[in-house]
Amino acid sequence: MGQVDGFMKYQREMAKSRDPKTRLKDYKEVYTPMDKEQLHNQAARCMDCGVPFCHNGCPLGNNIPDFNDAVYNGKWEEAIRILSSTNNFPEFTGRICPAPCEASCVLSINNKPVTIEYIEKTIAETAFEKGYIKPNPPKSRSGKRVAVVGSGPAGLAAAAQLNKAGHWVTVFERSDRIGGLLRYGIPDFKLEKTVVDRRVRLMEQEGIVFKTNAHVGVNVSALQLKSEFDAIVLCGGASAPRDLPIPGRNFKGVHFAMEFLSQNNKRVAGDKILSGEILAKDKNVLVIGGGDTGSDCVGTSNRHGAKSVTQIELLGKPPLNRNENNPWPLWPMVLMTSSSHEEGVERQWSLLTKEFLSDNNGRLTGLKIVEIKWGMNPQGKMGFEEVPGTERVLPCELALLAIGFVGAEKGGMVDELKIELDERGNIKSDNYHTTQEGIFAAGDIRRGQSLVVWAISEGREAARAVDTWLMGQSALEAKDESFVHLTQEA
Ligand SMILES: Cc1cc2nc3c(=O)[nH]c(=O)nc-3n(C[C@H](O)[C@H](O)[C@H](O)COP(=O)(O)OP(=O)(O)OC[C@H]3O[C@@H](n4cnc5c(N)ncnc54)[C@H](O)[C@@H]3O)c2cc1C
Ligand code: SF4
Repeated sequence: MGQVDGFMKYQREMAKSRDPKTRLKDYKEVYTPMDKEQLHNQAARCMDCGVPFCHNGCPLGNNIPDFNDAVYNGKWEEAIRILSSTNNFPEFTGRICPAPCEASCVLSINNKPVTIEYIEKTIAETAFEKGYIKPNPPKSRSGKRVAVVGSGPAGLAAAAQLNKAGHWVTVFERSDRIGGLLRYGIPDFKLEKTVVDRRVRLMEQEGIVFKTNAHVGVNVSALQLKSEFDAIVLCGGASAPRDLPIPGRNFKGVHFAMEFLSQNNKRVAGDKILSGEILAKDKNVLVIGGGDTGSDCVGTSNRHGAKSVTQIELLGKPPLNRNENNPWPLWPMVLMTSSSHEEGVERQWSLLTKEFLSDNNGRLTGLKIVEIKWGMNPQGKMGFEEVPGTERVLPCELALLAIGFVGAEKGGMVDELKIELDERGNIKSDNYHTTQEGIFAAGDIRRGQSLVVWAISEGREAARAVDTWLMGQSALEAKDESFVHLTQEA
């Protein structure tokens, strides 16, 4: 443990964000680096708890007190060694993880938690700067070939671990660039794509082959992959979006959030959008859905130069502080305000969408909504009822549907390989093994839309299951399952 009284001496400090007036003019990351002395003081706040709840809260089981101590002592090489033993991509999670570790940090019982996520990002960036992260191909090869389908964080983690175990790995990605939602979902102002490119280059140097524009089940036969590879790991994500089938859904100007976000990431990458451009400039934008995808739409719309941005949500406004039935170390069900919200948005809760409205040319002009009241119904279940006389129209020329995802995409490779789905529409599996011999699954395609940190965890665990299936045993690191997950997934 670094400093015994660090948690009393220093207050939690966050990385500084760039001025909204400046950052709205570009897509560069919002947060700026913290200086090393400041970071040293933040690491000093860690109490090296006997039972480190932070470690329990992290889906990867990161050894947080140990790397905090290494950072406090300026031992950066030691810090990245500890961090990389559980997390293949700390440069991603250090930027975009909602940090369930911080929610469960013991300090947050009566104080503010240790700045774990930022410490993680700085360890990763310092390690790249100092050359501690370099290509590390396996010393020997097993001769086995594994195909990974999908190059999001789950596919990348599975590929990295399987390659480390000595197997020849090929990643098949239907998009034109590698990265999954890291590339074509999460905006650049949260994660600049040079960070993804840097990691992919490193993985190529370690011997992993990436094939883009390779849509398995469409222009690449899934059955052929089955015959050519010793095992397959399906990491295709859960990209089927939830729709809003109300009258007027087909008016011009109503889009899924992902159409808007992925198109924008392509534009930021320098691609020309040849048809169907979705722009928020000078429009009243209505973001439907109060979650993180919605928040990314808010930040992107403001960067486009929207006239106004409103985000609406069916659920009620969360409390500012934890309720009695939501104590530490559970994930806090409180109002979250992202950097995108700080840049300008009107947020409204407890609204039911009724009908999209249009002009004579079928162009969206507004959304009819009604206020609702949440409460227990006579059967003791949570429900809502409309508040009479509260129907009104929210004017908008662009509406973005950010109301979640409904599981793995149907058809294509799932049908070709005769993979069974569970009742939630995700791929059914037993220890990552699907219902088909030699075919495994990891990430959102298996657990439903989740988080990058969970996708990495799933990719690592699936790789271990594949390695064991191929070789009878595995030397890949096992996740520390000795703890009970007392915290709730974010
Ligand atoms: C807008 C948005 C913002 C988000 N922000 C955050 C955040 O800030 N922090 C966070 O922790 N999580 C965030 N998430 C969630 C997170 O991105 C996902 O949980 C995570 O990316 C899932 O990883 P994955 O590898 O399972 O799937 P994905 O990242 O979805 O990758 C799947 C890949 O598989 C490819 N693919 C699919 N089918 C095929 C096929 N048949 N052949 C070849 N390739 C195929 C897809 O093109 C895609 O590239 C966000 C999600 C969205 C939608
Ligand atoms: S719970 Fe917080 S204070 Fe305790 S070891 Fe983890 S980071 Fe340090």
